[in-house]
Amino acid sequence: MDTDFLSLLQDEQDPYFEEAKDAIEKVIESKKNLVGSTTWNKFKKMLESCSILESEAIKPMIKAVKCQACRRKQRNLTQHIMFFSADCNGVKELPLKMEFSVGCFCAERGSLYHDLHHHNSQLKQSCAEKVALPAMK
Ligand SMILES: [Zn+2]
Repeated sequence: MDTDFLSLLQDEQDPYFEEAKDAIEKVIESKKNLVGSTTWNKFKKMLESCSILESEAIKPMIKAVKCQACRRKQRNLTQHIMFFSADCNGVKELPLKMEFSVGCFCAERGSLYHDLHHHNSQLKQSCAEKVALPAMK
C-alpha cells in the first residue's frame, strides 16, 4: 500500500472513502447472503464467530445421512469442518474443538461464507489500526 493512499484513508471526513467502504461492505454482505444458507443455524454461528476453520475430507464418505450444517437428510457427507474454541469469540460453553460432518455443498459454501465474513472484519480491523497509528504519535 502506498503512503498517499494511507494518508487519504486517515482523513475520516472524506466522503469518498466512506462511500467506498460502505459499497464494499454492501457487496460482501450480499455475497454472504448468496452463499449462506438459511438452514444453517449453529454452523453459521460458528462460521461467524471463529476466525480459523479447518477442513478434512471424510474418506470414504458417509452415505445418505443428515448433514450437520443444514440438517437435511440423505446427504453424502464428504468433509469434516472443525472449529477450535481458542479462535472463537462470544460463543458460550464451547468445547475445545467443534466438528461438523457436512455434505459437499455446505462444505464449499461454508468455507466461502467464512472467508467473506472474516475478510470483511479483518479489512475493517487493519484499516482501523492503520488509521489509529498516526494518532498515537
Ligand atoms: Zn448440508
